[in-house]
Amino acid sequence: MYEPASRARFITRWAVWRLDSRVIASILLVESAVLALVVTSAALERVTREHLVLTAWLVAFGVLHTEVATGIERIRRQVAGTSYFDLSSVWTFAAAVLLPPALAAGVIVVLYVHLWIRVWRPARVPLYRHVFTTATVVLAAFVAHVVTSRAGGIQGWPGDLSSLGTIALAILLYVTVNTALVGGAIALTNPPARPGELLGHWDDNALEIATLCLGALAAIALTANPWLVVLVLPPLLVLHRAVLVRQLEEVANTDGKTGLLTAAAWHARATRAIGRAEKARESVAVLICDLDHFKAINDMHGHLAGDQVLAAVATALRAEVRGRDLVGRFGGEEFVVLVPDLPLENGGRAEVHAVGERIRHRISMLTVAVDTPDGALTVSGLGISVGGAVLPPEGATLEQVMKIADASLYAAKRDGRNTVRIAGLAQIPAARNPTA
Ligand code: GH3
Ligand code: MG
Ligand code: MG
Repeated sequence: MYEPASRARFITRWAVWRLDSRVIASILLVESAVLALVVTSAALERVTREHLVLTAWLVAFGVLHTEVATGIERIRRQVAGTSYFDLSSVWTFAAAVLLPPALAAGVIVVLYVHLWIRVWRPARVPLYRHVFTTATVVLAAFVAHVVTSRAGGIQGWPGDLSSLGTIALAILLYVTVNTALVGGAIALTNPPARPGELLGHWDDNALEIATLCLGALAAIALTANPWLVVLVLPPLLVLHRAVLVRQLEEVANTDGKTGLLTAAAWHARATRAIGRAEKARESVAVLICDLDHFKAINDMHGHLAGDQVLAAVATALRAEVRGRDLVGRFGGEEFVVLVPDLPLENGGRAEVHAVGERIRHRISMLTVAVDTPDGALTVSGLGISVGGAVLPPEGATLEQVMKIADASLYAAKRDGRNTVRIAGLAQIPAARNPTA
């Protein structure tokens, strides 16, 4: 129990107050609209004994699923941050299809409170985020319910192809409502978010759709014989493990200090991108960027401050290139960028030079707040040398292009640092004397 004063302190420490007031207003608007919807439908709907039995089954299976899956969840939390997919939508979607909206909202709230206690609170997800997610799920379930009940409800469906169309539409709308609301919240909290961040990873969306398909089957089984729903659990747990494998893969491919691709992951993806470009008859370029006199920053402010500068440079690099350009950490204070989709005329050398120059300029304007043994300081006046090479029209291996880019980088260092050198096409086979 909290005393009034400590309760007030507890409330003022909520993470939600650190958000922008526009974001808080939008979150509250969505939550109040959902609450109003639930209260209105509760007043209008007629709950039967059969509904209550189905509610009990759904809550029991949902809680059982979370309990069985927490082992997998625990490993997932250790290796990867958080993601808003926990596969509970199998039960929330079944509730949407089978129950009146307010009762379905009740099932969702019970399952989400349980998930909060068992999964998300230990993962230190802010409560406001979980409450917002719950509201989006209630709204998605409401929309899915409208679609399926308009077609007569699951028991009244005709035994033909139209039932499949109804369930497919309900799944599509459920995903769309959820994605739109969560994407909207991300866009408001982290501008400028990229489309990939707003709409979620393709694999995540495929996983959500697969979960909802299982939810539809669980709903059908529940109306026939609730014990048959046990058959849904094994594929559900295998799906859950598949999420874990994908997240492990992502962690293995991400450099811990900068969040960029590791050198090996960048190399594998860059090789594939070169293969695609050759087929599409497009040109590709590689840039190698090396911070100037970085050792001096470590020597002056310590390695932890050096790490903060590396992270800030990585974020700036990412922000300066397009979403489809591949950015990786090559080694210590060296970064690599693969720039695809260049025009074949002149190999896109002018475009690549412009990209390198933009990167150089952005890094030179960067101000990084760092922690040093002498307290907080800012580091500015950074320089970066950029060497680049464009894939010749006759094609080349990634290693060949990297060699040329590396020679260009050395030319940039020799020419005084904080400069960009891109090798000309004619020099590629010879791999010597890169010029500006
Ligand atoms: P140049 O302009 O010739 O590139 O000079 P430089 O000092 O940047 O290059 P040098 O190769 O002499 O030093 C690179 C430095 O990068 C040395 C090393 O301490 C530092 N470094 C490498 N990896 C990390 C890292 O992960 N964290 C930190 N803080 N420093 C790193
Ligand atoms: Mg270096
Ligand atoms: Mg350096």
